Amino acid sequence: MTHPKGPTIAAKAGHFLDVHSGAITPEIQTSTTFARDDRYDLINPANVYVRDQNPTFVHAERTLADLENGEECLLFSSGMAAIAAVFYTLRPGSHVVVPDSMYWGVSSFLRDHCERADIFLSTYETGNAQSIEAALKTQNHTSIVWVETPSNPFLHVTDIALAAEIAHQYGAMVCVDSTVATPVFTRPLDHGADLVIHSATKYLNGHSDVLCGAVVTRDEHELWLSIKKERAQAGAQPGSFDAWLLMRGMRTLYVRVKQASENAAKIAGFLEQHAAVESVAYPGLASHPGHQIAKKQMLGGFGSLLSFCVRGELDRTLQVAGRLQLITSATSLGGVESLIEHRHSIEPEENAIPVNQLRLSIGIEDVDDLIEDLDAALQ
Ligand SMILES: *Cc1c(COP(=O)(O)O)cnc(C)c1O
Repeated sequence: MTHPKGPTIAAKAGHFLDVHSGAITPEIQTSTTFARDDRYDLINPANVYVRDQNPTFVHAERTLADLENGEECLLFSSGMAAIAAVFYTLRPGSHVVVPDSMYWGVSSFLRDHCERADIFLSTYETGNAQSIEAALKTQNHTSIVWVETPSNPFLHVTDIALAAEIAHQYGAMVCVDSTVATPVFTRPLDHGADLVIHSATKYLNGHSDVLCGAVVTRDEHELWLSIKKERAQAGAQPGSFDAWLLMRGMRTLYVRVKQASENAAKIAGFLEQHAAVESVAYPGLASHPGHQIAKKQMLGGFGSLLSFCVRGELDRTLQVAGRLQLITSATSLGGVESLIEHRHSIEPEENAIPVNQLRLSIGIEDVDDLIEDLDAALQ
């Protein structure tokens, strides 16, 4: 088959035929080192030492590269390790442009790292790709423009094609944290991005039992080669078991993510008309400021992350979360089970998360059960 579609690529993740056993799923390779023959040649030249490469990683890496329409992929021990590896390649005096609102782990890492490493950090208005140009103009040369779409936890949607067009005019590379969109709905490389980043801990694995990250590249550009070297040198790889579980999780990526997105769209509609709810942020709602961009770059659904503001203050908001029976209060997102989170309680004051905001990661439970749970908690 010349161009299998996403669901086919995902369903066949890691599938092969072991001619010795007849097994159709690959084994977990735990060996840290690989033998040489009597002429000191490697038995398999691809395998030397596990910090360079591990045959178990390749199944998940190839699957994700194909899902993103990229050339290559590298797994990391977490989403943050993948993101850090990108920025660790930059020299002092480099300039990076990032959104003013994004996943808090990334913004706090960047504040510390850029200060230590003498990297200039400028911000643009999340969701407004046009505002990238002003940030680029603050320095002579920019290495990286960072995009996170939809953003966590406000669900701002940024036009990737426009961001790439502007960034490329200034010679900058565009990296898109596509954790929330997943390759099911958006393939940033098709819109002009140079790198795609995932916290594979979330939707890609999908079962809240693996910490993993990934970077996918459009081609073998210089930044990619530096990231590859960085991983081999610094060694932020996942373990074999985790890489194998990720491969296994990806086989059901499409059915999980599509079902969760359908559920989330119904829940967003339900919450939007609920008297106890002040506002809902979900890219699939016509009321969302980024809805038109989302319609253009998210194909087939708008994801299953949403946030909403309860009518009331802190006590009332925590009471709503606390009353839920089916939906668990916990951080993280992208699992088959629905989770709710009060980001204001865990992010610092300066991030200005509204006290009455709750973030929902919708899973694949029966949507009527989820709505009943939310309705009872909001009464
Ligand atoms: C969770 C998350 C990360 C960090 O990933 P970890 O696997 O937890 O290190 C990065 N970006 C986004 C958008 C996330 O949701």
